[in-house]
Amino acid sequence: MKICIVLSTRPEIIKLSPLIRKLKSQRDEFYLINTNQHFLDKMSKVFFDFFKISGKIYNVNPDKKSQATFFSDSVKSIAKILKKKKPSFLIVQGDTNTGLAGCMAASLVNRNLQNRDKIKIVHIESGLRSFDDTMPEEINRKIIDQMSHILFPPTKFDFNNLKKDNCLKFKKTFIVGNTISDVLKRYELIADKAKILKKLKLKKKKYFLVTLHRPESVDVKKNIISLFKTFKVLNKKYNYPIIFPIHPRTKDKVKKLNLSFGKSIKIIEPLEYLDFLKLMKDSKLVLSDSGGLQEEASILGVPCVTLRTTTERQITLLRNVNIMAGYNQKKILNAVKKFHKKKIKKIKDFGNGNVTDKIYRKLKSLSKNFS
Ligand code: UDP
Repeated sequence: MKICIVLSTRPEIIKLSPLIRKLKSQRDEFYLINTNQHFLDKMSKVFFDFFKISGKIYNVNPDKKSQATFFSDSVKSIAKILKKKKPSFLIVQGDTNTGLAGCMAASLVNRNLQNRDKIKIVHIESGLRSFDDTMPEEINRKIIDQMSHILFPPTKFDFNNLKKDNCLKFKKTFIVGNTISDVLKRYELIADKAKILKKLKLKKKKYFLVTLHRPESVDVKKNIISLFKTFKVLNKKYNYPIIFPIHPRTKDKVKKLNLSFGKSIKIIEPLEYLDFLKLMKDSKLVLSDSGGLQEEASILGVPCVTLRTTTERQITLLRNVNIMAGYNQKKILNAVKKFHKKKIKKIKDFGNGNVTDKIYRKLKSLSKNFS
């Protein structure tokens, strides 16, 4: 089988790393296309290096002046590579603009190909829905699912979303878990050796970890201001440091708004994976608007307070390991209070470290039908 993987952002690199390792170890023919959606070293290169992502990588350089130029340039460049390389599968992960651009490029190239030559579009982490169309990621997910031929939803819950969306007809769909469970299985113990707690002078389970980067949290002035005020209140109430590895887009907004943190919030640069994993694992709880953190925290058994009003990781809410508190101070304080008192159990819904093998085996057997 000939595989093309389109990726660029931090979560894509992390979650696709086990599959890339598997393809390498099995000596399958594959190559990567990097759209450079994330282009800062600390958001991208650091992860390519850490996960030893090597092999043939095509770098495309879309104009990032606007999302429109990003899409049009990326689709054009990716389509050109696909026409030349003729992969049997094109794989995308999650809900990024990069994933959608890859999918659109393959779909357009397919219009001029005979059925037997068409590129099969594969969506890993399919079926997630926040039911909030104001989120650009929700639009991306829905279109990617509609355009894909092979879907790998993590859970039955996500499979049911696909069913409700009429997204199963003429597609091959397999519930497999989430490859983040493979990543955590591989690195959780290794991360214990990371020195980040010592470096930041932190005590296990005696600090809160914060991340923020979504437009709804950081581009809406009243939301970001409310969150920063709430972090200060939390710091005072619990006397716990609040550690905040700041995303570059959040850093820009904070600067523009001239927000002050005082001593209550410790802002640091984005961390490489092992340091971040260690910090997450040993935190009392995480407060975040990230999609991926809701999964990772629940697998590690760390409570999560989600700083959003909708979530596509609804299974974590159902399992009571995540509380969606939005931007409202009272709701956030109540959620923290609840989790501060009570321990949570690790959840198993995302698999136990064999998700990549399942995906690989399915692709291998499907490739026989297509060759
Ligand atoms: N992450 C990291 N370093 C950091 C912050 C996050 O390695 O400083 C990892 C985190 O463990 C998770 C991923 O980046 O696997 C989440 O990325 P992000 O929140 O940017 O994206 P989302 O999951 O919201 O799409």
